[in-house]
Amino acid sequence: MKIVVCVKQVPDTTEVKINPETNTLVREGVASIINPFDMYAVEEALRIKEKLGGTVTVLSMGPPQAAESLRETIAMGVDEAVLLSDRAFAGADTLATSYALAKGIEKIGGVDLVFCGKQAIDGDTAQVGPEIAEKLGIPHVTYVRKVNEINDKEIIVERMNEDGYERVQAPLPALLTVVKEINEPRLPSLKGKMRAKNVEIPIWTAAMINADADKTGLNGSPTWVKRIFIPELKCQGEIFEGSPEEQVKSLVDAILSRKVV
Ligand SMILES: Cc1cc2nc3c(=O)[nH]c(=O)nc-3n(C[C@H](O)[C@H](O)[C@H](O)COP(=O)(O)OP(=O)(O)OC[C@H]3O[C@@H](n4cnc5c(N)ncnc54)[C@H](O)[C@@H]3O)c2cc1C
Repeated sequence: MKIVVCVKQVPDTTEVKINPETNTLVREGVASIINPFDMYAVEEALRIKEKLGGTVTVLSMGPPQAAESLRETIAMGVDEAVLLSDRAFAGADTLATSYALAKGIEKIGGVDLVFCGKQAIDGDTAQVGPEIAEKLGIPHVTYVRKVNEINDKEIIVERMNEDGYERVQAPLPALLTVVKEINEPRLPSLKGKMRAKNVEIPIWTAAMINADADKTGLNGSPTWVKRIFIPELKCQGEIFEGSPEEQVKSLVDAILSRKVV
């Protein structure tokens, strides 16, 4: 089983700062981590490899420093990690991002299963996984919480929805996006950490994946950010003082005075 996991490097913060002049996120001075949902994807890929054999390759598109984050996945047991990095990829929206990742997956070749996280904690669109599948012409299943069965021809999974879950069968190759309920990601092993230190992370440029210049980066991005801002806090929280009885009375009075009930 040849498995690829798409992993994004994201800022390690919930406090987003925005440059009002350029309408871009301020990334300076903010440490980076692997998108948390992608860790669950890596874990699930490793579990399938342990069951059926094969290889797990991690693929990321980002600046050269993203290579360091990828070492963490090598330490977990991934066979290899590849970084797509080129000035031509800069300014990519989700369409251009998924195009580059799909081209990378095509270059890896013979892939049976692609994993993504359900969404990235910075961009938050949840579009990239399904878009990669469309570009590769393969089926996709989103919000997967359990892999029930898998063989070299098909996969049966449970996908979460608002009312519970659906059981879905898909032929391989296929792409899955996963939720955190799927597993508990393992910690890196000592052996893995030693290997991760020295392993070479290949960097593939746009030319190396035969990417069309009109479909990458800003050129390939039909969406443009007009304005980006942090929403104003419209109401403040209120903390009631006093004994528990007094606090409850104050809360009930506040609810009644606002005619909530
Ligand atoms: C007009 C425009 C310009 C932009 N310019 C920039 C820019 O200059 N610099 C910049 O950093 N961002 C830029 N972005 C944001 C960038 O497009 C998104 O971060 C990116 O497309 C991924 O979308 P997302 O974060 O919503 O991921 P989601 O769709 O929420 O991610 C779902 C899953 O897809 C996979 N995935 C997503 N992105 C990657 C990746 N890069 N590598 C590997 N796997 C991935 C992961 O498995 C992830 O869990 C721009 C966006 C727009 C709309």
